[in-house]
Amino acid sequence: MNKEKVLEIANSLLLEINDDYEEIEVDTCFYTYPVLKSIFVSFDCEELEEGSEFIVDFRNRLGKEFNVSTFLISLLHECGHCETWFKTTRKQERYNQKIKRWIEKGKRSTLDYFKLADERRATNWAIYFIRNNYELIKIYDKKIKES
Ligand SMILES: [Zn+2]
Repeated sequence: MNKEKVLEIANSLLLEINDDYEEIEVDTCFYTYPVLKSIFVSFDCEELEEGSEFIVDFRNRLGKEFNVSTFLISLLHECGHCETWFKTTRKQERYNQKIKRWIEKGKRSTLDYFKLADERRATNWAIYFIRNNYELIKIYDKKIKES
């Protein structure tokens, strides 16, 4: 896989969604600064593994009839944050930050992470987007696989 090429393809997908997106950057995991529409991706992290809690939960909710790569699932989840962050209230945001800190310290299960309101909203957005733009997603996934 040519990482430069994958980034180029992923950037053009983001621009089809919304032309406000910053160019994608690479880091050790997937995350985003939603207000800035700035997304970071990884080519080697737990989230990309087929058996990870995140991917298993996402696939169960998406439905078996949709076949999307773990890279695009993770990318679109981050898009979901960028497209929905404004729906998170300050109260929810404080609660989410608290739970995320507890998870980091091992005081809460990592399973709780993706149940948080902002995480669920980001995933719901991604699922909705895939279902409604499946032909487009298939084209991008094919381009990524061939790069
Ligand atoms: Zn997230």
